[in-house]
Amino acid sequence: MKKARSKIHQSDQGNDVAHGPQRTCVGCRKSLDQDQLVRYVLSPQGEVVVDYRKKLPGRGVYTCFDLECVETAVKRGQFCRSLRGGEGPSANDLWRVLHDQAYCKALDLIGMARKAGQVVSGTRQVLSELQAGKEFGVLVRAADLSVDIAEKVDKAARRSAVPCFALFSKELLGGLLGKSERGVVALKYGSLAVAIMNELERLNKFAGEFNG
Ligand SMILES: [Zn+2]
Repeated sequence: MKKARSKIHQSDQGNDVAHGPQRTCVGCRKSLDQDQLVRYVLSPQGEVVVDYRKKLPGRGVYTCFDLECVETAVKRGQFCRSLRGGEGPSANDLWRVLHDQAYCKALDLIGMARKAGQVVSGTRQVLSELQAGKEFGVLVRAADLSVDIAEKVDKAARRSAVPCFALFSKELLGGLLGKSERGVVALKYGSLAVAIMNELERLNKFAGEFNG
């Protein structure tokens, strides 16, 4: 036998792409940046709980933000096994918690962005700034905008290559910004916009699943 086979190629470029610690999803088994995964721990009562902000103490397990991965992990008893205890949680319950957490975090972050002066809001204002070539990190347009205005906003976003999400109501967006109603909220380019987009992408996975 030749020795050629014993020479296994190490991935030597791995460090260039890794930003934070890598963790393995107990559903699909992929190893990913911890920031992209959801953490779960065992509560003092011995239940599996979502540790969305990754702050709770103790042993943790991770999954992708993906119903399929959560279901696979539940089916294989990965939560109980890896956390050494805990009632087997239902995938749907966990999924609902993940929805609520992503929802709250998105709203929190938009509120933070407003305080940091990173927000431009109002349909007319945002459209005219887009027209003037202003760059934004991400747009949120209310899901209850009228069809023609929604089309106008979507089109302008596409033209400027800004990701645009149809989420929340005009009233909710307005409330976040201390106004009565807001149809469009634009986030200035930056790390807050990136964090907000991450949550909005997560929320998009629930489209049509839950109301409110
Ligand atoms: Zn996964």
